Amino acid sequence: MKKMKQALSFLLVACMVVALAATAFAASYTDTDGHWAEEAIERWTSLDIVKGYDDGEYKPENDLTRGQAAVIFARLLKLEKKADITNFTDVAADAYYADAIAQVVARGIMNGKSSSSMDPEGPLTREEFFTMLVRAIGLPVEEKSEKTFSDGNKVSDWAAGSINALVNAGYVQGYENGTIRPENDIKRSEIVALFHQTVVAYANEDGKEIVAPEKGVVIVVADDVTVKSEKGEEVTVVVAKEEATVTVETAGAVSVVADSATVNVAEENTVYVNADDTTIAATEKAEVVVNAKDATVSLEGTTAEVAVTVAESNVEITDAPKGTSVATEETVTGTVVNEDKVASDSSYVVGEEPAPAPAPVHVHTYGTEEGWYKTTQGSVTVYKYGYQCICGDVKPYTEAKALTLTADMTFDAPIYIAEGQDITIDLAGHNIIADGHDAIYNYGTLTVKSDGFVYPELVDDNGNLVFNTDNTKGTVVVKGGKALNGIVNNGTLSVEAAAIAVADDFGSAIVNRAGTTTVKNAVLVATGLGNCVYVIDGTVDLNEGTVALSATYGFAGLTLGGTLNVNDGSYYSTVGFPFCVAANGDKTGTINFAKRVVTDRTGTEIEADGGAGEIYWLAGSIQTAAGQAEDDISVIAALDTEIDETVSQTKTYAEYFMENKANS
Ligand SMILES: [Zn+2]
Repeated sequence: MKKMKQALSFLLVACMVVALAATAFAASYTDTDGHWAEEAIERWTSLDIVKGYDDGEYKPENDLTRGQAAVIFARLLKLEKKADITNFTDVAADAYYADAIAQVVARGIMNGKSSSSMDPEGPLTREEFFTMLVRAIGLPVEEKSEKTFSDGNKVSDWAAGSINALVNAGYVQGYENGTIRPENDIKRSEIVALFHQTVVAYANEDGKEIVAPEKGVVIVVADDVTVKSEKGEEVTVVVAKEEATVTVETAGAVSVVADSATVNVAEENTVYVNADDTTIAATEKAEVVVNAKDATVSLEGTTAEVAVTVAESNVEITDAPKGTSVATEETVTGTVVNEDKVASDSSYVVGEEPAPAPAPVHVHTYGTEEGWYKTTQGSVTVYKYGYQCICGDVKPYTEAKALTLTADMTFDAPIYIAEGQDITIDLAGHNIIADGHDAIYNYGTLTVKSDGFVYPELVDDNGNLVFNTDNTKGTVVVKGGKALNGIVNNGTLSVEAAAIAVADDFGSAIVNRAGTTTVKNAVLVATGLGNCVYVIDGTVDLNEGTVALSATYGFAGLTLGGTLNVNDGSYYSTVGFPFCVAANGDKTGTINFAKRVVTDRTGTEIEADGGAGEIYWLAGSIQTAAGQAEDDISVIAALDTEIDETVSQTKTYAEYFMENKANS
C-alpha cells in the first residue's frame, strides 16, 4: 500500500507540474488531461504500446477487452511468432486483434477461455490480467503471498500463484481498502498504471545502455542491450526479443522469455529460463532455473560458478564448465548435462565423479544346500553352518542339528556356532583340524562327541599331522607357538567322549569365556605352555572320566574369574601344576573340588597338603566337598602369603607366569 500511496502522491505532483506546463506533455488524448493515470497513459502511448480511439479519446475508465489486452501485450513484447489459433472459433481472421492473439498464444501468455473460445470482445478480469503479466515477464509463480487481502478468498486457484508473485515483488499492492478485486474487469487506465508501476525501463532500441532508475522490471525488446542500475538496486531484466544478446551488469534476476537469446551475466544473478535455445555466459556467480520444458540451455562462455536447477523435463544443458552443479526436481525426467544423463531428484557436478549408486536393497535368498560356509562375523572370518545366500550371508540353523564327520575336516577359519544354534558334532573317529587358528567359537549350544579330535593346527615342519590320536598314551610332539584354542565357549558347550587338543603356547583346549562347559569322559590335552581348561568367566564342570593332560608348564585347569568344578577325573601336568586359581582384574577364580582327594592320572593324590606346587594359588578360593578349604590345604595358605608379598595382583597371569616360568 505504501508504494501505491507514493505512486499516487507522485502522480498528483506530476499532474500539478503538467497543469503548469501543459505543453510539456502534448497530451495525446482529449479525455486524459488531469486523469490520475495520465502520466502512465502518456508513457505507454509514446512507446506505441497503447493507442486511443478514432474519436481522439483514450477512454481510461472503459473496460479493457481481451482482444485489446492481446494487442497491448503483443506490442509490449514486440511479438512476432504466431500460433495456429484456428481452434478459437470466435476469433475472426480479419479482426484487428487476430494476429496479436496468435502471438500471445504462441508465447503462452493467453490460453483462451476454452479450447474453442478466446472471447476477444469480452472484458478481461484483473486476475486474468495479472496472470498474463506474470507469464509475459516470466516471473516465477509463488505459493505464498507476503500480504493478505480482505477479498483474497475470491482469487481463482489458477491466478493465485501469479498474484502472489506480483504482490511479493512489490509490483501490485491492491486497493487502499485492503482489497485486490480479482473478479473486477480491468480498466484501460489500470493496465497502463500497472505497467507503469512494474516496468522501470523499457529497452526498445538496439545497442543501447539502459540504466534502471530503481527496483523493478526492465523489459528488453532490442538487441545488444546492456542493463545497469542507477542505485545498484536489484532489477529483473526480461529478455523478450528472440535472438537478442543482453548484457546484465546489475545484480538481481534475469527472465528469458524469448527463444535463442544470449545473456551475458556480469553481476550475481538468478536467471529464469522460460524459453528454448538460451545461452548464458556468466562471468559472475549465477543461479539458473530452467522452467521451460524440452529446452536447451548452453553455458558457453560461462567462467563463473553456476548452479542450475532443472524444474521441467527433457532439458539439455550444454557446454557446462567443470564445477557447474545441476539439480533436478523430483518429477523431472530426461535431463542431460554435457551428454551425461542426470536422474530425477538428484544433483550432479560437472567434472566430478558421480557418487556411487546406493547398494540395491538386497533380500537374502538362501540356498537349499546345507554346510559349513566361510563368512564373516564382524571383522573375523569364520565358518558358519547353515544355508548360504548368493551374497555370502549364512542363515544358521536355529534348531538342533547333528553332524557326523565322515572324514577329517580342515578349516582355514574358526567354526562359528551362532547364538541360538544348537549343534552336535559327532567326530566319529575323525578330526576337525583348524589350520592356524582357534578351532571353534561357540555362542550357541555345542556338543562334541565320540572319538576324534578337535584341535588347532598341529603340523610338523613337513606339514604332517603329528598328534598322537591315542591320546592317553604315547608321546605328543607339537611344533609351533601360537596362542590358539580348541573351543572358545560363550554359550553352552558339552564335550563327551571326545578329545580336544591344543599345542601352542598359552592356547587352551577349552576356553570358557561365558556360559557353561560340561566335560564328561573326554580327553583334554595341552602341550607347551597350553592349558587344558581355561576359565575366564562362567562355569566349567569336569566330570566323570575326564582326563586332563597338561604337558610341560601348562595347567589341567586354570581359572581366573569363573568357577571350575572338579567333580571327578584325573588331572596331570608333566612339569607344572594340575590346577591354578588366580585373579583377573576385579574377578577371582574359584575351584570347587567335589572330592576330598583328587588324584592325578597316575593315581597320585592331589592333596591340599601334598607335594609342593600341586595347586598354584594366586587368589580366589578353593573348596573341598566338605566345605573345608584352607585348613585342609595348608600348603596353599603358605603359598598365598608368599605370593602376596612378592607379586603384584595387578600383574596379569601371563606376566606372572612368564616371570616364574624359569623357576618352575
Ligand atoms: Zn544375501
